[in-house]
Formats: sequence, structure tokens, C-alpha cells
Amino acid sequence: MKRIIVTGGAGFLGSHLCERLLNEGNYVISIDNFFTGSKENIKHLFDNKNFESIRYDITEPIHIECDEIYNFACPASPIHYQRNPIHTFKTSVLGILNMLNLARECKARILQASTSEVYGDPLEHPQKESYWGHVNPNGIRSCYDEGKRGAETLMMDYYREYNTDIKIIRIFNTYGPRMNENDGRVVSNFIIQAIKNMPITVYGDGSQTRSFCYCDDLIDGAVKMMNNDNFIGPVNLGNTYEMTVLEFAKKIIDMTNSKSQIIFKNLPKDDPIKRQPDITLAKEKLNWNPNYKLEEGLKKTIEYFNNYINKI
Ligand code: NAD
Ligand code: UDP
Repeated sequence: MKRIIVTGGAGFLGSHLCERLLNEGNYVISIDNFFTGSKENIKHLFDNKNFESIRYDITEPIHIECDEIYNFACPASPIHYQRNPIHTFKTSVLGILNMLNLARECKARILQASTSEVYGDPLEHPQKESYWGHVNPNGIRSCYDEGKRGAETLMMDYYREYNTDIKIIRIFNTYGPRMNENDGRVVSNFIIQAIKNMPITVYGDGSQTRSFCYCDDLIDGAVKMMNNDNFIGPVNLGNTYEMTVLEFAKKIIDMTNSKSQIIFKNLPKDDPIKRQPDITLAKEKLNWNPNYKLEEGLKKTIEYFNNYINKI
């Protein structure tokens, strides 16, 4: 039985990852400061004797014996990572430094949840791993983008200096049940607004594009990457089906039979105009391909938010 640490284990993706790793017969330790995560996301795991949840901030060093570390701790939505930008930056940079030191001490393998944001507002489309990005170093998104870029730097330097066993995945927009309802992300915002028949808030003219990956597919890719012995990454994980935000708003209205109207609001500063992963490398090295069609994943997510809203 492997002893696996999941930082950010009480968050949206972290909680799905803990569940998956427990189902595969591992011992799982979630480390989370509950900044955006919640006990609600992991309460169904509390009775599992192979699960532990620790409230802790990864910007502080920690020592726990382990075989693998998945570093998922970091607020991911723009409104949350901009709420305390200095702490966001520290979480990415000091957090990964502490986790790399732990991996080194324990001779553990470590996987970093990096992001498509390392490409910034990309000038190459779709984005390949070889693209260095187009990132504002001092704008309102920089605490996240540059923090994640700095984390990749540390991962690679620990690999080159100490031969630490590292893996880097770059996650593109991922959605699904247990997204935080106050996240402000497009998927949760539009679904909640549509269910409540409230105006759907499209930022800008809605012509910016995103590609949405269902959480189960993403977790599958992350686990495949961790279990791969020959490839350190970075590797893009995401769905290649790209659409405009306006098209996405219409799809959600349609799928929820909502009476909501679309309204237009100011586009946030530095909002990337387009984003679509090139996943050739993931297919080749990991034999990974997202399975969920957008409608299938959205159906599950809408069901989740319907139940959630009816409960509160
Ligand atoms: P989330 O906000 O739901 O989860 C992040 C978790 O990390 C939360 O439980 C939060 O409480 C915890 N956390 C934050 N700072 C911490 C700290 N200093 N110490 C300990 N715990 C801390 O977000 P998510 O969507 O589940 O994202 C998980 C990871 O995946 C993040 O690293 C994020 O950058 C990355 N990612 C996600 C997406 C996406 O579309 N969901 C895209 C790219 C990258
Ligand atoms: N967006 C929107 N309305 C919302 C929330 C987001 O139009 O209520 C847009 C946002 O401006 C961006 C896209 O949807 O262009 C994706 O935003 P999100 O915050 O989900 O993730 P990002 O990819 O920007 O990190």
C-alpha cells in the first residue's frame, strides 16, 4: 500500500483525486488549509481507515513519511487567487519548495499541478508544451501565473540538482461536481445563474474561447502521469473541444431549460483571448485522451448544482 499526500485534498480536484487513490487501495493524506476547499468535499471519506485530513498551510515546512506527493494546493479561480495575491504566490513557490524538500527527504515521487496559465494570453494556438508563453509579469493574474511558472522552475531545478523524481502536468480549464459555488468561474457561474433563472453574465463580448475538460478525465491523466516511469513532463491535460464563452452560455441555457437572459459585463484585465490544449504528447506518452463529451460532463455538473441549491 502506497502512502500518498494530496495537498489541496479538500478542494474541487483534490477531493476527486483522494477518492480515486483510496479506491485504488492507497493510504491517502490530504493537507489543506481550507482557503477555498471544505470538509464538505471530503466528509464521505472520513470513515475510510486509509484516509487522513490535516489542516495545514503548505507555505510552512512539514515532515510526513510518504511515497508520493500530488501538489494540488492553490486557489484556482481568478477571484480567489486575487483575494490574497501575496499568499497565492507564496502557496505556489514556498509551497512547492516545502513539498520538494519533503519529496527529497522521503525519496518520494512528486507531481505538480501546473496550469495552462503558464502560457498566459497565448500567441501560439493551440498551445504545445514547447511554447514559452506570453505572460504579464506584474498584472492582476501574475500572482497565479508567475507563481505556477516559478513552481515549474523549482521542480526542474530539483530534478537537475538532486535528481528528484518529478512530474509536471499543465491543467486546462476543468469542471465538474464539487466546484465551489462562489468560485466565480465560468462553468459554476453560468450553471447556477441558469438554474436560478438569473441573468447569465458574459464578460466582454463573449468571443474569447476556452476548452473544458471533465474532472474524471483530468484525474485519470494525473494518475497516469504519476505512474509513468519514463517521462517527467510538462504535459498538457485538457479537452481540445474549443468554444466561445457566448456559445457556452447558450449551451447552458439550453441544457437547463432556463429562462435566463444573457447580459454583458466588462472583460476582466488580462483575460486570455483563446485557449486550447495540444494534447499530442499526452496521447503519445500516457495513452491519455479525454473520454467525456461536453454534454455528458455538463449533465453531471448541472445535476450536482441542482441538488446543492435544493439543499441550501
Ligand atoms: P480549489 O480552489 O477547489 O482547490 C485548491 C485547494 O487548495 C483548496 O482546497 C484550498 O483550500 C487549498 N489550498 C490553497 N492554498 C493552500 C495552502 N497554502 N496550503 C494548503 N492548502 C491550500 O481549486 P481546484 O480547481 O481544485 O485546483 C486544484 C489545483 O489544480 C490547483 O493547484 C490549480 O492551480 C490547478 N488547476 C486547476 C484548474 C481547473 O480548471 N480547475 C486549471 C489549472 C490548474
Ligand atoms: N467568464 C464570463 N462570465 C463569468 C465568469 C467567467 O464570461 O461569469 C469568462 C472569463 O472572462 C473567461 C472565461 O469565462 O474569459 C473563463 O473564465 P474562468 O474564470 O472560468 O477561467 P480562466 O480560464 O479565465 O482562468
